[in-house]
Amino acid sequence: MTPTSDPTAPRGPAAPAWMGRVIAVLGIGMLLSACQPDISADAAAPAAPASAALPAASAVDHVPACPAGASVMDGWNDRAPPRRIFGNTWYVGTCGLSAVLVTSDQGHVLIDGGTVAAGPLIEANIRALGVDPHAVKYLLNSHEHSDHAAGLAHLQAATGAPLLARAPAVATLHNGRGDRSDPQHLEPGGTFPPVANVVVVADGEVVRVGPLALTAHATPGHTPGGTSWTWRSCEGARCLDIAYTDSVSAISDAQYRYGDHPQVVAAFRRGLDTLAALPCDIHVTPHPLGSNLFARLAGDGTPPLVDAGACQRYAQHGRAQLDARLKEEAAGRKP
Ligand SMILES: [Zn+2]
Ligand SMILES: [Zn+2]
Repeated sequence: MTPTSDPTAPRGPAAPAWMGRVIAVLGIGMLLSACQPDISADAAAPAAPASAALPAASAVDHVPACPAGASVMDGWNDRAPPRRIFGNTWYVGTCGLSAVLVTSDQGHVLIDGGTVAAGPLIEANIRALGVDPHAVKYLLNSHEHSDHAAGLAHLQAATGAPLLARAPAVATLHNGRGDRSDPQHLEPGGTFPPVANVVVVADGEVVRVGPLALTAHATPGHTPGGTSWTWRSCEGARCLDIAYTDSVSAISDAQYRYGDHPQVVAAFRRGLDTLAALPCDIHVTPHPLGSNLFARLAGDGTPPLVDAGACQRYAQHGRAQLDARLKEEAAGRKP
């Protein structure tokens, strides 16, 4: 329920030193993926990346653009115009909460559901693109907080699609209520409509719909079930890696101390290492301002939409924030 990251965080140039590690970890990631069973809506599906499958939106001129200069806490329930991010990857969220539709001629995948109020706005954006919600085969989630999961029950009713989530998130999504394993458990507004059909997906698992292949990456810490997703989209012969990275803010309610949970901190750090090494030509976050998405979609190239160092910097920002949080706790200033 909290912002992914400070959108004013420094986004300096990528250091070339990490390239070697990226290649090495990518190799491990591919091995992990190869060892995981796929979840597939079509057992005979080809594995090739999909090209753009939809016409550009034409019926959304009445949706006003999101105001510039908004904060990351603004516009959660304000409909944003749906728009193409790249190829068959579309933004269908609100001004303050992301939802991403990945399309193919054999069905689609939708990531994140926003708040209760945002769910119907996301559905409206899907329809505005000319997409039948019933052609959405899977719902995915970044993490089990109400600002990204409370609209999923509505979207499950609209699509009939199962929600795929990693095991630590399943009970919360199924019950519409978290537990003490969530650092923000005691914050108000944490409950949301339960999602009836939730299916477990493993770290490294590949979710397939026709030609689509989206890989789950365990990135816990902000919540136990935090998951990031990567896939490849193409425009003609040009194919790029898209990374939808989960929130990495180490924040809590008035009781939870990260320092009391060394295994949580260790898993948090592993997830940040994972994020830094993701294939990441285009970076998208659950709060669009967390990756400055709208400015990057504006089209003038400043800041650039394609930025292969973005996930590495995002992870570094998360590490710095986690370290600062642990120091605050050790000094008795947090929570
Ligand atoms: Zn959030
Ligand atoms: Zn959250």
